[in-house]
Amino acid sequence: MCAIFGAFNVDRASEKIYFGLHAQQHRAKEYAGMAVSDNGEFYQYAGPGIVQNVFSEKELHGLPGRIGVGHIRYSTVEDDKSLNNTQPIVANYRNGKIAIAHNGNLTNVRELRQSLNNQKLFTSMDTELLLRLLCLDDSTELIEGLKKTLTKAQGTYTLLFLLPDRLIAVRDPSGNRPLSLGQRGKSWFVSSETCAFDILEVDFVRDISPGEILIISQKGLESGTLCLPSIPLARCIFEKIYYGLPASLIFGEYASEFRKRLGSRLEEVCPVLGGQAVMSVPDSANFIAEGYASSGRSGKLTSGILRSHYIGRTFIEPTPEQRELKVKRKFQLVKPEVAGKSVVLVDDSIVRLNTMPSIVRMIRGAKAKEVHVRIACPPITNPCYYGIDMPTTVELAAAKMSIEQMRIVIGADSLGFLPLAELQKLSPEGGYCYACMNGEYPVPIPQ
Ligand code: SF4
Repeated sequence: MCAIFGAFNVDRASEKIYFGLHAQQHRAKEYAGMAVSDNGEFYQYAGPGIVQNVFSEKELHGLPGRIGVGHIRYSTVEDDKSLNNTQPIVANYRNGKIAIAHNGNLTNVRELRQSLNNQKLFTSMDTELLLRLLCLDDSTELIEGLKKTLTKAQGTYTLLFLLPDRLIAVRDPSGNRPLSLGQRGKSWFVSSETCAFDILEVDFVRDISPGEILIISQKGLESGTLCLPSIPLARCIFEKIYYGLPASLIFGEYASEFRKRLGSRLEEVCPVLGGQAVMSVPDSANFIAEGYASSGRSGKLTSGILRSHYIGRTFIEPTPEQRELKVKRKFQLVKPEVAGKSVVLVDDSIVRLNTMPSIVRMIRGAKAKEVHVRIACPPITNPCYYGIDMPTTVELAAAKMSIEQMRIVIGADSLGFLPLAELQKLSPEGGYCYACMNGEYPVPIPQ
């Protein structure tokens, strides 16, 4: 998973992009990069690690200009971790330069490579394929060429293109990943998540629509539509459950509000009558636990587990070994909150089941009377091909085990998941992807 951020007509654009990426650091932390344009000259810098470690004052000074794009990256494929694989990617386009930043995942990479006659690539990123195809296109006009190029691409994408005088934002017709437009005075901003606008005191204007191409230039905004076969709207429900920051407005609703509704519904369907202490696996399940405890029927909300803020979220660590090690350093139990009590532990999802058994062991070690686990996301049984890191069925706990088997592995007294039908009822307007829960892939997947 990645995040992108663009700034147009802004003093010291690189500083704004720095903060825009920093605000979205929860989405990815392996690489950070940005490209800016100053009077037609492009400058770029990227490196491994989080934004504040990649960019110092010196690098930002070396990135002049009033327009630019940034990218933070978490690789989703094993062979994808080379240092070459940073974005934005800058290329020569006709008489000038162009840069691209991409969030999402293309699913017909093999066909795209073949259409380029398997020419040697500098990276192993699907994004480079798109950029090469665009640069080879013979259309006289860039937007026409971009539309033609995107007819060849399958999968999910939100894209930002930097040109010497323009910023172009694109969201694929499935709308799978969020992308929003913000404004401050005469400056425009585009971001994967709206939380990045808050830090810059930018007003949220609207989401980029699924299938939209938005051109931002000195002439103002110009909106167009991609010429693609109709694809059902398939926004990633996982963005609302887990991935997005609670402070972000995701697909029209603050993630915090959605998560409270989710927790409340989970409690209605899977209560723990006689429960005493409801606690979240922090921080991603905090609002879900708040919703779960809101009726008071299954216990009182307590902050029984503290999370170290010096370690990233385990789900986005690159290898299983690193994930396991970090779980042990990550959570601190507040023992008086659990001792002698019937504890209800609420989490957003179970993917690989790396974390939960260790947490339950910690709670039992602190002499809890009972430990009941409640999970807001239905069992994840299928891989995601659209950019979230759960790529193989073999890694997914719920694909290999029954709920009872998972309960035994976890060591809980009971284990409950919100059923898919109940999750779907929380978004009655429809237009969401639930493929990792039901195997119904709305966007073509690799063959
Ligand atoms: Fe999101 Fe799951 Fe669909 Fe992937 S498969 S886009 S994680 S809902």
